[in-house]
This record gives sequence, structure tokens and C-alpha cells, in this order.
Amino acid sequence: MIRKVRLMTPGPTEVPAEILLEMAQPVDHHRTAQYQALLSEVTELLQDVLFTKSPVLSITGSGTAGMEGAIVTCCNPARKVLCCRGGKFGERWAEVCEAFGIAHVDYDIEWGHGADPGAIARHLDDDPEIGAVVVVHSETSTGAISDVEAIARITRDRDVLLLVDAITSGGCLPLKMDAWGIDAVGVGSQKALMLPPGLAFVAVGERAWKAAEAFTPSAYYLDLKAYRKSLAKSDAPYTPANTLMRGALMALRHIKEVGIEAIWARTAMLAAATRAACEALGLKPYAASPSDSVTAVWVPDGVDEAALRKQMRSDFGIQIAGGQGDLKGRIIRFSHMGYTDVIDTAGAIAALELVLHKLGHTLTLGAGLAAFQQEIAIRRG
Ligand SMILES: *Cc1c(COP(=O)(O)O)cnc(C)c1O
Repeated sequence: MIRKVRLMTPGPTEVPAEILLEMAQPVDHHRTAQYQALLSEVTELLQDVLFTKSPVLSITGSGTAGMEGAIVTCCNPARKVLCCRGGKFGERWAEVCEAFGIAHVDYDIEWGHGADPGAIARHLDDDPEIGAVVVVHSETSTGAISDVEAIARITRDRDVLLLVDAITSGGCLPLKMDAWGIDAVGVGSQKALMLPPGLAFVAVGERAWKAAEAFTPSAYYLDLKAYRKSLAKSDAPYTPANTLMRGALMALRHIKEVGIEAIWARTAMLAAATRAACEALGLKPYAASPSDSVTAVWVPDGVDEAALRKQMRSDFGIQIAGGQGDLKGRIIRFSHMGYTDVIDTAGAIAALELVLHKLGHTLTLGAGLAAFQQEIAIRRG
């Protein structure tokens, strides 16, 4: 059966037909001049997206592979890692440290809040054995943003690396790796970059490479030094997912054409309008410091979250995300990343109103949509 599925989930996100068709081209070999040129261009375009002159490594694997590679390659097990845990993904990086026997100190943040730079500074003052901080820029499980620029001001003047999970911020939210002084940044293909799942991109800066030289990581496939060495020759250490890389080149060329600042502005506009719509519908935001790449709102009392999401999909083809961990069944989440526009988002709001109405939530049909349009109209001028 042919049916329209509209992905409004914070990963995976929709992939434009042009990119899908590009990836339908015959598979080429990767030890060729053509692939070398492709890899070089993808790398340069990623450097532009992340505002860095450091090499950006392309890894076959999901976003987790990229972050795991950064942690295991750059975090010296002789020191400790400060893991900022304000949601599912923050917790995951502590689990990675655990899995590799890297000592970690956990900074537990109330879910829905960003990491407090002052608290990070106190942790570093208290424990000089901490050699790296891992923070999630946009915590997708809660929809909360952390002020990574302020955190970098604390780490960059100390002998402490800053590794940033930018999986739902790279390519959609303001992020300037070099100017801010971040040491490593990880992104995934299926979030803001308009690609299917399967690639992770990791930028690693000078300080982190230097730290990486002091020890041998407990990794083989994800020892990022191998990727850096190959990339210097426009090559990949292992067979790259060249079909996905072909798509990546097209997506990144498109991002350059539109302009990264324009994409940041669009993402912010969609998020602001969605928040306005939710407020008008009586749906309370989950995050105290909301990220513009993903909006999380509480499911109203008396509404069955599973039924809501199920009907969004079965009746309107709209896939949204629920909550993870303790938030399962309690929140819903919408993405504003990548190939999503005003009309897609307006459609999701309209569908949400119809489903909430059917499930017995009291609302005025059109109230959310009107608030959404008001906000868009203001921002468009
Ligand atoms: C999606 C996501 C991840 C994990 O990525 P996978 O591609 O599922 O491995 C990590 N961090 C954040 C913030 C994410 O949104």
C-alpha cells in the first residue's frame, strides 16, 4: 500500500527525493580519484557547517559511533571524564565511559534544564583529575539546550577537553567549534543533515589530537586516529558507506547554497511557532530551556499518549516521538530539523488538534494553528 509518512521525529528526519535518487546511483568503488574528490568536498563542507578548520571524520555508524569514537580516542583513561547528564543521551556518554573503563564523574542535571557552566567550573575546581567534559548541546530526550559557548569558555583555558554531542544541533542550531573553543563535535546523518541513518561525522581539534597521542585507546574500528591518517590522503581506513556519502555531498551542497545562518533562522522560527501553538492548545512545554531543534511538551491529563501518537500516524501519516526513560507516555516530541518546512509543521499542528479533540481534550480547533501562523507571520515580516 502506498501511503504518505511524514517524519516529524527528532531522528530520523525526512530525506528529500533528490537525495534519495542520488543514492540510487550505482555503487562505485572507493579507492578511486572520484571517491577521493567526493570525500574531500564532503569534509570541507562539513568544516563549514561546524565552523572548524579541523578535520571532520566520516564514520559508518549511527551518531553514537561518532561520540563513542571521540570519547575513547580523546579521553585519557588515566584521567577522569565529567559527564553532564540531563537526559538519555547525557547518560549514554557516561555508559560509554563505563564500557571502556574510563573513570567518570557524573554531573546530574535536572531533566529539561541545560548544563550550568558554573556547576561545571566547580566540578573542575574540585577535581583536577578531570581531563575532559562531555556535554550534549541539544538534549533530544528532553528538548533542552545547554549553553555550550559558555561551557567552552571554562574548559578552553584549562587543561580540560570539551567534547560536544551536537547530534541534534550541528547543521540546525548556532554552533561554532573553533571560535567557541570546542575540542570535539559529533553529529549524525539522520538529524539535521537530511540523510538516512548510517553516518556519523566527528570533528576533532588540535588539543584533542594531542591528548589522544598520550595513550592507546581500547578501540579498533573507532580509533579516530586511523580516520585522520587516511583522511590526510583523502581516503577512508575501512570501506566507507559511499552510497550515503554520495547523498551527504548533495545534502551539504544544498546546505551551503541555502546558507547555514538561514537554516538556523528557519529552525528557530519553526520552534517558536510550534511553542506558540502548543501554548494556545494548553500543552505545557517540558524543557525549562527549550532547544530550537526539538520541541517536547507534556501530554495533557486524561490523554493516552500511545493512542495520540498512533492516531497521528494512522490517520494523518505523521510520525512524532514519545518520551524516553521516565518520560515514556508523558511527553511528545516534534523535530524542527532538516527537510521540514512551515507547511509540514503546520500540518502536524493541525493533525495534533484533530487527534487531541478526538481523544477528548478540550480545545478550540484551529487555536494552535492560528498561534502558529501568527508567529510565522511576525518572523517573516
Ligand atoms: C539521536 C541522538 C543520538 C544518538 O544517535 P544514534 O544515531 O541513534 O546513535 C545521540 N545524541 C543525541 C543528542 C541525539 O539526538
